[in-house]
Amino acid sequence: MLTTKHRPLYKFHGKSVEGLYIINRHWPDVMTTKIQKDNTAEPVLEKAEPLFAAPQKNKVKIPYAEKEGRLVHVSTVERGLKCNAVCPVCKTPVVARKGAKIRHHFAHYTATDCNPETVLHFIAKHLLYQKLQKALDQNQPMRITWKCKACSNMHSLGLLENVTKILLENNLNGLRPDISLRDDQNNPTAFIEIVVTHRPDKEVVEYCTRHHIPLLIFHINSAESLEALELYDQIYPAVVLFCTRENCPSCHAPLFEKHLFILNVSCWRCGAPMQLAAMQVNHKLYGITHFSEEDKQIAREKGVIFREYFNKKSRQREVAVACRNCGIVTGNQFIAFQKRLLPKHAGIYRGKICLKCRYHIDLDLNTSTETQK
Ligand SMILES: [Zn+2]
Ligand SMILES: [Zn+2]
Ligand SMILES: [Zn+2]
Ligand SMILES: [Zn+2]
Repeated sequence: MLTTKHRPLYKFHGKSVEGLYIINRHWPDVMTTKIQKDNTAEPVLEKAEPLFAAPQKNKVKIPYAEKEGRLVHVSTVERGLKCNAVCPVCKTPVVARKGAKIRHHFAHYTATDCNPETVLHFIAKHLLYQKLQKALDQNQPMRITWKCKACSNMHSLGLLENVTKILLENNLNGLRPDISLRDDQNNPTAFIEIVVTHRPDKEVVEYCTRHHIPLLIFHINSAESLEALELYDQIYPAVVLFCTRENCPSCHAPLFEKHLFILNVSCWRCGAPMQLAAMQVNHKLYGITHFSEEDKQIAREKGVIFREYFNKKSRQREVAVACRNCGIVTGNQFIAFQKRLLPKHAGIYRGKICLKCRYHIDLDLNTSTETQK
């Protein structure tokens, strides 16, 4: 009999999915027929040590073990010791627990101090490695898509593009990412870290930022998250630390295209016509704070007046656009102008800027082009 305990609901890509449904789709007969035929527990199960106990509070029932040098799912082996499998980490025999009440899983047969987190980590790493290696052999592109933490845009990339080698725990300048992908020059093209309880290695994160290499992080904390690694054609990392934009040479943050806008407006105080200059970066408008010297020069040539004033809020002297008639400054916040003015106007593409350290890579004055909205 199947009980609801066999059907844990879990989230996958935002949708609730039944664990059993997925298992059945992948291993159709094994699971159902075995359970129906076989209701009595073998005495050997009583002696078995409690499982690959849990990381944190929940016990993870690990559904994989090693058999003949390969990882096998519990649904593909006979129950009890007849499964002929071992723990992939400590290599001692395991029993396949395939009763009617608890999710099917493997347990160490004898007492062991084998660390369950290490086992989870090991299995996840190898399942993922096998999947990527197979995709590489079969020329599958393995496209991943993610929301960028650095620039908030959606990015996507073919993970196996230019990859010729996939390495497990390979040492690279003292770093040991769980999986690293290499091109034909043996340069890393991406790193993968499996996270069970610990955060990903800080040095690996820093290395990836510095060298502009994608870092994929997988969170493995349940039987389902392990099975998902084997089950689906694509891979779904929990986090991708990578911005596909060009890197700032100074601080390694992403560089954004900047567009200079010169807008004909009326002075907010005296109503006289005036020129307002703003820089649009990643869908936002900024004031002179985000102008390079050349950007300012272009703005001046187009009739914009800049003036120094004392900003009461920041308690600092700042430069901002001023009214030619009454001299009042318009601060460097342009949120109100965003919707009203931008759609009607053309900006001048001026190159790139780093929003973090405000490093500018200016386009040559002659090649700066007006872009029509
Ligand atoms: Zn073990
Ligand atoms: Zn990005
Ligand atoms: Zn920077
Ligand atoms: Zn005015």
